Amino acid sequence: MPAAPTPLINALTVDVEDYFQVSSFERVVDRREWSSRESRVVISTQRLLDLFAAHDVRGTFFILGWVAERFPQLVRDIAAAGHELACHSHWHRLVYEMTPAAFREDLRQSKRAIEDAAGASVTAFRAPSFSITGRSLWALEILVEEGFTVDSSIFPTRHDRYGMPDAKPEIHVVDTPAGPITELPMTVCPLPGVTLPVGGGGYFRLYPWAITRRLLARVNRQAGRPFVFYVHPWEVDPDQPRIRGGTRLSHFRHYVNLRTTATKIDRMLRQFRFGTVSDVIAQSQTAQRLTAQPTTAELAA
Ligand SMILES: [Zn+2]
Repeated sequence: MPAAPTPLINALTVDVEDYFQVSSFERVVDRREWSSRESRVVISTQRLLDLFAAHDVRGTFFILGWVAERFPQLVRDIAAAGHELACHSHWHRLVYEMTPAAFREDLRQSKRAIEDAAGASVTAFRAPSFSITGRSLWALEILVEEGFTVDSSIFPTRHDRYGMPDAKPEIHVVDTPAGPITELPMTVCPLPGVTLPVGGGGYFRLYPWAITRRLLARVNRQAGRPFVFYVHPWEVDPDQPRIRGGTRLSHFRHYVNLRTTATKIDRMLRQFRFGTVSDVIAQSQTAQRLTAQPTTAELAA
């Protein structure tokens, strides 16, 4: 009897930022006010670290350079718990609203801040609000030039702020003029007639767990792909101070179901297998090698 296939390793990722730094409120909270707001990023990231430790899983933390600069011990705590460190820009500006030169400057500032705090190099990037789109694909070349080997910023979906509906949904290598970079896109689940974004942020908080579970299982089994789960520390912090101003849509997106996020993550960690972004990329490279070069056992069969 053939052994049951080993479940795929899915990517466990966290975008480490404070509740007032999100794109939904960037028109309401000026960046100059960041340092005078009550910060909750340390306590809420600790909540995620505890949750992951309870399940003995490791993930990848995309850290805002601004946070690394102010809370270097948090960066060291994340690394000491065995997680992978990655970069989420410095000032959380949307890439397609920046010039290439400004993007490069912000990227250098954040990479330096995280690396100085951790004493280790950082080579994976996630753009604020998945803002590498058809308008800002030039960013991939700059990432390669600045020493990055992995990007996880492209969302193959439609949304008012991000998305490239026609982007490849699986892990792939993009050849830029500066060299190759591996793209780990955010997850969409193909259903008849529609592809649904799934597995993180507002989608994860909005959908009931039973729906998310079925969609994620479908991505693993039917599509044969690992999924990318993403969460922000403020999503497990229902007691965060409320931001005044902003649109009703912004408030809905930011505050919907904050109280149930931690429970849903706990369930998800029980039912699916997880690892870092590097683990997931290594898994796909092994799979590709196996497909490309049959082993002696396969040849003999
Ligand atoms: Zn972010």
